[in-house]
Amino acid sequence: MQRFFFKCTDCKSYFRSVNKTISCPRCGGHLLTSYNHEVLHSSAKRLMSKPIGRGIWRYLDFLPVYDASRIVSLGEGDTFLHRCSRLAEAFNMKEIYIKDETTNATGSFMDRGTSVAVTHSVEVNAHSVCGAATGNFGASLAAYAAKAGLDCTIFIPRYIDLGKLYQMIAYGAEVELAENYEDAAKKAYGLSDHTHLTSTFDPFFLEGEKTTGYEICEQLGWKTPDRIVVPMGDGSHISMIWKGLKEFASVGLLSSINVKMTGVQLEGYAPIATVLSAKGNAPLTEPERAFAGDIAIAKPALASSAVQAVKESCGEAVTVSDKEIFEAMELLAKTEGIFAEPAAASTVAGVKKLRDSGRISRDESTVCVITGSGLKDPVTARKMVRKNRLGNMVRRVEDRSTTPLLGSTKAKILSTCSEQESYGYNIWKTLEEHFSLSVKIPTVYQHLAELEAMGLVERIGAQQVMGKPARYYYRLTQRGEKVLETLGPSS
Ligand SMILES: [Zn+2]
Repeated sequence: MQRFFFKCTDCKSYFRSVNKTISCPRCGGHLLTSYNHEVLHSSAKRLMSKPIGRGIWRYLDFLPVYDASRIVSLGEGDTFLHRCSRLAEAFNMKEIYIKDETTNATGSFMDRGTSVAVTHSVEVNAHSVCGAATGNFGASLAAYAAKAGLDCTIFIPRYIDLGKLYQMIAYGAEVELAENYEDAAKKAYGLSDHTHLTSTFDPFFLEGEKTTGYEICEQLGWKTPDRIVVPMGDGSHISMIWKGLKEFASVGLLSSINVKMTGVQLEGYAPIATVLSAKGNAPLTEPERAFAGDIAIAKPALASSAVQAVKESCGEAVTVSDKEIFEAMELLAKTEGIFAEPAAASTVAGVKKLRDSGRISRDESTVCVITGSGLKDPVTARKMVRKNRLGNMVRRVEDRSTTPLLGSTKAKILSTCSEQESYGYNIWKTLEEHFSLSVKIPTVYQHLAELEAMGLVERIGAQQVMGKPARYYYRLTQRGEKVLETLGPSS
């Protein structure tokens, strides 16, 4: 008996298998996995009595995998569900939980989906994978491709969080810049003839995403909270959590699913929230922004599924501003010890907004899904700590970590010029007499030229000595003084 098959969300066609295609071969719509109900029932019994595997693979029977011996795993899933008493106090709520996805292998919830997607790539005997990514998916795909020994090419938009880019490169992926996400997706598709195309909306990836919902229920003692709050980028995570809950209910693992699915988007970039509020059409242009870029998506692939999840569950969508997200990041880190990236912290900002306006009651047990780690976006992380009272100390440490690039000879030249304005020959003599450093005179001039180019010293005039080339005097610039200060007395 076939355990699972695929159904198009648009034309409703069924397919027994999909190999290289990630969308409906008839109409191009999105494919979702459906399971044979009888098989799912017996799987539910097994899950309660004797589950196999760990993390998301605990739910192996509920995932579209043909051969369990080929699973590609980095230990994804089984993330903590924290009961957050200090955050609850701040929001005057009884129960608020954080589903902390920052502890996945690459620091984001994407690993749940990528593990299933790359397992499928291995099952179809692919030698390489490719994909388009706004950030976290690229980091995750690169890591799982590395684990599976597959070549990996990722197309990214110009605006992307640096930490995610560092990850992709560290995991050995080939990374190519595209104009924007739409262009990246086109370029990835262009490679799909000879490379296995993976995306955040292929049916295998999507199935992995639903395990966030499975785990929340199981961690709460096989029941749903009153509300689950999820960031909405392409709309896939919220849709799939809802799909997972319905599956659990259909096989009796949940007696009811009274949960309001609540999606968070950014003010001004909220196509799904706009559809739900019936205020008009979604914006068609892709925003060029890095801050919370993973959820600033102009044309969300699973918008209609996300709308359906919110409507069916009597939930809602909420939009938050950059400032509200920033404040939520700080609050979450300081009250609960969880450092979230902006897109992730949007859920906490969303709860605050709904609570302030009375749309969430004090008694509603609420789960915020924190989808990714704060260090993935070092630019925002730096902004956050620099405005702290310890900001000056941070600046000094940052300077210190860049100054070793100067090298010790340049540091000594700076030190010499700081005593008094000096010229090449004199500096050369000082290096030898005070620092016992023997270098050739042209080397000193080369260093001076480089220090000048770096803006650390400046020429303040030439002195003409009879019959000799002009003698140039150098002194430290303000920046040079600062750098010298950070180098400390050893220079
Ligand atoms: Zn179709």
